[in-house]
Amino acid sequence: MRYCRRCLIPDTKPHVVFDAEGVCNACLAHDRKNDALAGIDWSERERMFGELVEQARGRRARHYDVVVPVSGGKDSITQVARLLPSDVRILAVNVDYGVKTEIGRENLACIPAMGASLITYRPEEQLHKRLIRIGLEDFGDPDLLSHTLLHAYPLHAALAFGVPLVLLGENSAAEYGGDGRIAAETDMSRAWFDKFAANDGHDARYVSERYRIPFERLRLYDYPDELAGSGTRATFCSHYFHWDSERHLEIAQGFGFRTLPGAAEGTYRNYVGVDERINRIHQYLKVLKFGYGRATDHACEDIRNGRLTREEAVDLVRRHDLEPLSEAATAEVIAWLGYDHDEFFAIIDRYRNTEIWQQDADGAWYIPHHLEDLTWVH
Ligand SMILES: [Zn+2]
Repeated sequence: MRYCRRCLIPDTKPHVVFDAEGVCNACLAHDRKNDALAGIDWSERERMFGELVEQARGRRARHYDVVVPVSGGKDSITQVARLLPSDVRILAVNVDYGVKTEIGRENLACIPAMGASLITYRPEEQLHKRLIRIGLEDFGDPDLLSHTLLHAYPLHAALAFGVPLVLLGENSAAEYGGDGRIAAETDMSRAWFDKFAANDGHDARYVSERYRIPFERLRLYDYPDELAGSGTRATFCSHYFHWDSERHLEIAQGFGFRTLPGAAEGTYRNYVGVDERINRIHQYLKVLKFGYGRATDHACEDIRNGRLTREEAVDLVRRHDLEPLSEAATAEVIAWLGYDHDEFFAIIDRYRNTEIWQQDADGAWYIPHHLEDLTWVH
């Protein structure tokens, strides 16, 4: 494997492109974003945000003024916090699509305490577990359809309750470098959803056709096209406030957000992926398929933001990135999905890329020359 000269993104990452100096497209997008952000008047954006919220209130909706999709993570608690000075009626919508942790439940409980009403949507399990198994077994991604539900359901809820505004989190397209036109959008469109919520077209319609599941049963997993022209808009919070993980952590902790006592499995941070268990499996499959995981993602972000040197990052990635799935992280999920232990790990192991991984004489898997070739120029 070879790596970006500036961060630690490997050349096995899907869609990665390196320039002539060996710098990856995510680092270049970060430079462009910083250039663009340098010209942004955030106090003006905040004033625009105030106007947007006032307009929503002025619509005098029957029940609520704003819907906020929430996981109970630091970012969603911050989104709710941004609305509190406006004294609007907030409906926080949580999609409980997997196996919540105790700390996840506690963090979610911060939200009603902040002054927002909270509804948790739990999809019926027979169908939903089937969708998770399809994602895991046929695509190596147990979160395939959960991810579309997570993005679509709060929009459906806003339409059903007649709420004029949905305050989304970050426009990940703009944050991590994506399609220029879609990245510039302030609101979530069908095009944005297809590209960033639905993985390469493996969405509810595709699954409906391939697995003969009536689309009527999957509608809430898909973007509501009736949103356009409904009078409800779904807009990204990151357009109005500078999106900064560390700042969000501080804000959320002010409302009682709890972190793990130590690093989360597979990374060195203690505040990510704390609320739900299937996501760890989703992340580990990335390790098997592409030879890098969560610690690399976090280290690259910290290098770009000047919080870690590349040497410090290499050390953290070496210690955490390839950490195998533990019993503690998987036992509950395996039981819930109805697999037995060996069957589950056999499915996971099907996705190990043997062009990246090799086995030693004792049968242990390793990545040859992991994080060795760090000065490669294309
Ligand atoms: Zn890079």
